[in-house]
Amino acid sequence: MSLQAKNVAILGSTGSIGVNTREVIRASQGRFHTIAMTAHTQLAELVAQAQQDRPKWVVATSPSAAQGFDFTNLPCETELIVGAEGVERVVTAPEVDIVVAAMVGSAGLRGAWAALNAGKTVALANKETLVMAGPLVMDLCQRRGACLLPVDSEHSAIFQALRAGEKREVRRIVLTASGGPFRRYSKDQLRQVTVEQALNHPNWEMGPKITVDSATMMNKALEIIEARWLFDLPPEQIAVVVHPQSVVHSMVEFIDGSVVAQLSPPDMKLPIQYALSWPERLIGPAARVDWTTTWSLDFEPPDLERFPALLLGYDTARAGGTAGAVLNAANEAAVAAFLDRRLPFHEIVPACRAVLEQHTYDAQPPLSRLLELDAWARQEITKWIA
Ligand code: MG
Repeated sequence: MSLQAKNVAILGSTGSIGVNTREVIRASQGRFHTIAMTAHTQLAELVAQAQQDRPKWVVATSPSAAQGFDFTNLPCETELIVGAEGVERVVTAPEVDIVVAAMVGSAGLRGAWAALNAGKTVALANKETLVMAGPLVMDLCQRRGACLLPVDSEHSAIFQALRAGEKREVRRIVLTASGGPFRRYSKDQLRQVTVEQALNHPNWEMGPKITVDSATMMNKALEIIEARWLFDLPPEQIAVVVHPQSVVHSMVEFIDGSVVAQLSPPDMKLPIQYALSWPERLIGPAARVDWTTTWSLDFEPPDLERFPALLLGYDTARAGGTAGAVLNAANEAAVAAFLDRRLPFHEIVPACRAVLEQHTYDAQPPLSRLLELDAWARQEITKWIA
């Protein structure tokens, strides 16, 4: 019996999730085929990827980066599309089965939205989509009969562990956090953190934005919000525990006291593959636990005083409405300012809280209002820094 390959569109193919997705697809022995790939500015890398994967479409989302770039080495069967509208065109194409939404930041919302609106299966690596617009995205998904599958390793772990029981049997979910490189830093030490230190994550190889988010623990704050909408759980049923080894990717605690965890070495290829192959499991290229050596796993409660981002995450998850979009945009702008050495590390979270508290809250905003507030929050961060 030969299986028809599933056609995958990779949004953000040159980023770390995109690169891992291509590895999973190439190891899949024809189960998956890359039909479209998009990139913003890394166009030489995009062309090199297209030469290997021979997709039907490549999208260069930034017209200014594409202008003057030499695309003559693209395979002759590959169509080049320039501009962000190209993302909408490829994700809605009838040939596309699965969309891997791996663009960084709020830019990823548009592609994920278009794919869900077209009723596609979306493997969501872009947590900002749910942080910004969780209720609207989940509603769209239901109305269009689309399927939203988590790629974020914690949410993939919870998604897998939830198969052990019924929703009404869940007492809470427990998100694990590595604690980042500054887990043991005092408040004073946190005031001295440099860009170089923040970009040096102990367990995961990721892009710069998410690596800084991991160091402030804002990444976990965003994941609380992501989980709140994805699994439809109130913040009181979402706990966080620090687990420095990043082997237990998260857990579900059931009402009888049973805790079901998902374990694997830190390697994004596993959650990516699970989102592509679900509800099946396939043999794949992800790293495996080595049971022949002695090892241990540690857990400790998070320190909310040194890492106030977590409180901000809970407050935002509780508020819902416009709060997620404002927090997300404020954080993106604050992290960019930190990387640009315009904002000290320890002021990223206070800056975000200030902007969140200033905004005009709306409990049931339309998408257009969220996009307005996204732009507004970025400007407010600039003002806050000045
Ligand atoms: Mg994660």
